[in-house]
Amino acid sequence: MASEPALNSEENENSTADSTEPESALETARRQLHHAASHLDIDQNVVERLKHPKKVHEVTIPIERDDGTVEVFTGYRAQHDSVKGPYKGGLRYHPEVTRDECVGLGMWMTWKCAVMGLPFGGAKGGVAVNPKELSPDEKERLTRRFAQEIRDAIGPNRDIPAPDMGTDPQTMAWLMDAYSMQEGETTPGVVTGKPPVIGGSEGREEAPGRSVAIITKQACEYYENDLEETKIAVQGYGSVGANAARLLDKWGATVVAISDVNGAMYDPEGIDTAAVPSHDEEPEAVTKYADDVISNDELLTLDVDVLVPAALGNVITEANADSIAADLVVEGANGPTTSTASTILADRSIAVIPDILANAGGVTVSYFEWLQDINRRAWSLERVNDELKSEMYAAWEAVRTEFEQRDVTWRDAAYIVALSRIAEAHETRGLWP
Ligand code: GLU
Repeated sequence: MASEPALNSEENENSTADSTEPESALETARRQLHHAASHLDIDQNVVERLKHPKKVHEVTIPIERDDGTVEVFTGYRAQHDSVKGPYKGGLRYHPEVTRDECVGLGMWMTWKCAVMGLPFGGAKGGVAVNPKELSPDEKERLTRRFAQEIRDAIGPNRDIPAPDMGTDPQTMAWLMDAYSMQEGETTPGVVTGKPPVIGGSEGREEAPGRSVAIITKQACEYYENDLEETKIAVQGYGSVGANAARLLDKWGATVVAISDVNGAMYDPEGIDTAAVPSHDEEPEAVTKYADDVISNDELLTLDVDVLVPAALGNVITEANADSIAADLVVEGANGPTTSTASTILADRSIAVIPDILANAGGVTVSYFEWLQDINRRAWSLERVNDELKSEMYAAWEAVRTEFEQRDVTWRDAAYIVALSRIAEAHETRGLWP
């Protein structure tokens, strides 16, 4: 595998002065954009436009707490690019949500939708709040008020939010209800990832994990690793990690480690993944069911064939990239590997299949959900999973072709596919006015 060229000076301008500071999602996203652009013959003006979000909405969200006091939160919706269609991307409730994080994550959504060939652009939003400190009623009030504050920015043809960290189908139901009540008409297409009873798609919740499993299987076949002989460690046992682990387990792989915030369960003989409750089924239960508990840091450096980081961003960093012992990393989370760590892994010939391909099943089934909402016709779970599989295979093929022809990393190959599609659309539409 080719090593990554040195960063150019413009990228270095954006780097943090203190190298021990974790790099922000926006810094990582901009470096990746430059890196991909350096492989392509595209108009530099288009690259310059893509470095910036089209619009960022920042809103104040006052809510009444259950004790009668009023607390004020800040919410964001960063809309990166819409050359291909309405903005699309999740809403995150997390204490560390910032404007720049939303911009960086929104940029990743642009590439993710483009790798999958979806008629959507990229966006991300969220509220800087710890959702664990909100009662369900407070979370509902926060969501409804947030929906009202960003109402003009969203809509089924404008910008379509979805679940992300700290939000779930119920959050999307409140958002859709608040939007619909204000519009005076039921508008299921304004959000995806809703419960199926109000227009959500079958298979949507499982979809990011399912795509991680499909791509892991493809990558194992590519490197001629028999899935039956493959040992896998999965960091995070939420929606992405648990669904990926269970499917891979079902397809014959041996899942030797899984984890949550409290630590990891480790069994070299293989874990019965169905018997361990996911975060959605019983929050933070992994270590309760474990005989052997190891730390999350130890999980990341286990000598396995495949490592699936499926929890937070920035978990594979300069500090541990040298100790990663897996041959293949499949990114279930968004942005789990920093740019420096990506370079180290590339130098060590560890293949990293990037988030914008691996976990793109979520937004792909979001697209199916949006089609179902617009057409007022639900698809069966079988149809959703069949179409997801063929979309994932098509995206894998497009990325594999660039990987082989250009002798670049898998991440660069995925970015090349995405950026060339987006740049071509921009060049064709031209610059207005
Ligand atoms: N939040 C998910 C992601 O990062 C899904 C976005 C969507 O479905 O719009 O891919």
